Amino acid sequence: MKPAPFHYLRPDSVGEALEQLARHPDAKLMAGGQSLMALMNLRLARPSVIIDIGGLIELKRVFDDTDDLILGALVTHRSVEVDPLIAARAPLLAAAAGHIGHIGIRNRGTLGGSVAHADPAAEMPLATVVLGATFHAESVGGGRRTVAAEDMFVSFYTSALAPDEMITWVSIPAIQHGQGWGFVEYARQHGDYGLAGAGCLLSVGRDGRIESLRAGVLSAADRPLLFKGDDAIGERPSTRLWRALAKRWAAAAEPSSDDPDYSRQLCIAALEESLAEAHRRIETEREAGHGVN
Ligand code: FAD
Repeated sequence: MKPAPFHYLRPDSVGEALEQLARHPDAKLMAGGQSLMALMNLRLARPSVIIDIGGLIELKRVFDDTDDLILGALVTHRSVEVDPLIAARAPLLAAAAGHIGHIGIRNRGTLGGSVAHADPAAEMPLATVVLGATFHAESVGGGRRTVAAEDMFVSFYTSALAPDEMITWVSIPAIQHGQGWGFVEYARQHGDYGLAGAGCLLSVGRDGRIESLRAGVLSAADRPLLFKGDDAIGERPSTRLWRALAKRWAAAAEPSSDDPDYSRQLCIAALEESLAEAHRRIETEREAGHGVN
């Protein structure tokens, strides 16, 4: 099927895009088009105006800002996957991006588009929630505001963005020395959306006890679920602890699959595996005698 007729606008600047969005309440921004075009072709979305922001080169930049890594909303999944700066400062994000669809999709799909689309099975929403990212949103009416990742994902395909708001930048706290990370996903085949997936960030002190832990899962509810890990602080890492935490946390999952019990078991396994992976990274780096990430 072809999309319903629409007017096509291609702004040259963020300001022009925001003005067009304010002027046309029925408009949709198009970034990579990898989700929006499919919805339009199925006539599940019928915007009368498309604002193609793909040419806004400034929003394709990635740079360091003291403790944060800053990414433009139009950075593609493929850039996230292969950019050396992202690999060094936000390796969990890079690993998560590598699980998105196939390379053709990753070449076009963008970080901002994936976040705005708010698919609970998507990797970027989960990774940004676990990493404690902040989104910068702009509109003509509301000016600039920030939204914490954990407040961004409201329900299935529903974000906290107003219809006239555009994500411009994403700030991600850079990984610290002493932190380990894990990202694990199970899919039927390479390129499919994950049936289950988990990511985590872990710090273990010199005394061998957990100092901080954040973990999250995808495909387990109407949005990515975040576990802040307060119940793990002061504990010693062990296979038994990972199992206990994973089981406790997965009790909050409400998978919408045909077999929720199976989905919950996958969720437990992904959490356990990602926690063990994060701990392994910490141990390996400590044995090698340098900082961890
Ligand atoms: P678009 O499709 O252009 O836009 C999506 C939505 O976001 C639209 O509502 C649009 O108006 C809005 N939007 C876009 N940019 C902004 C912005 N800056 N500010 C505010 N709103 C904005 N995704 C996964 O996560 N995992 C997968 O495994 C996966 N597999 C896929 C397989 C196939 C075959 C296809 C076609 C897609 C797949 N995707 C997958 C989706 C892909 O990651 C998309 O790139 C992503 O969901 C949307 O990004 P986009 O840049 O293409 O956004």
